[in-house]
Amino acid sequence: MKKELIFLGPPACGKGTQTEKLAKYFGFPHIDTGRLLRAEIASGSENGKIAQKFIDKGQLVPVQLVGDIIKARLKQDDCKNGFILDGYPRSLEQAEMLEGIKKEINGDEEVDFRATYFDIDTHILVERIVNRRSCSKCGEIFNLKSKPPKIEGKCDKCGADLVQRKDDNEETAYARFETYNHETAPLIEYYKNKKVLSSINADGTIDEVWERLLKVVE
Ligand code: AMP
Repeated sequence: MKKELIFLGPPACGKGTQTEKLAKYFGFPHIDTGRLLRAEIASGSENGKIAQKFIDKGQLVPVQLVGDIIKARLKQDDCKNGFILDGYPRSLEQAEMLEGIKKEINGDEEVDFRATYFDIDTHILVERIVNRRSCSKCGEIFNLKSKPPKIEGKCDKCGADLVQRKDDNEETAYARFETYNHETAPLIEYYKNKKVLSSINADGTIDEVWERLLKVVE
């Protein structure tokens, strides 16, 4: 049965690292909304210009713009057997839109749809954000404290330069937590009511969280 996995949790809760690993484990595409939006910005498109304004302020990019990008991505062939959706939906409106997109793509086909909530105390996360670096080429995520690269400033995987995301500063980080609390946190109740939600304790080493994650998604 087709597996459709979505993930909830505050910024820098470790979702990106874990879901990337999970995508490899299942052989599904890892669809990272933030990364798709940053690629749109890099392309210089009109949509990219609009997205940039919201991302820089730590706010959600308009629902239709993100929805169109996600819909186009989920329609691609590599999503046929399943996908890992990281960073979408992020509001009730987006969750409703995802229902419509799924209906359009899946028709009457039964699918295994699950949401996993990364439960973690947000106090430790701002420090994680300011120490986060990512590879400019392959997107691999590092942390100067908990997962430093072997060679300073270079990606362990592909050797390209590591960069700090423009929105990974303290001020924007606080705005992103505000947005999360107002817009995204209500989805926990939403998916709980639909009986598709599992919660995992996301405070721990990468290996510890991985073990907990596998137990709820396999
Ligand atoms: P992330 O890479 O997941 O931390 O996302 C970075 C930024 O991209 C967020 O702060 C938002 O401005 C934007 N973004 C990512 N996902 C979404 C989404 N589902 N809806 C709207 N904006 C998003």
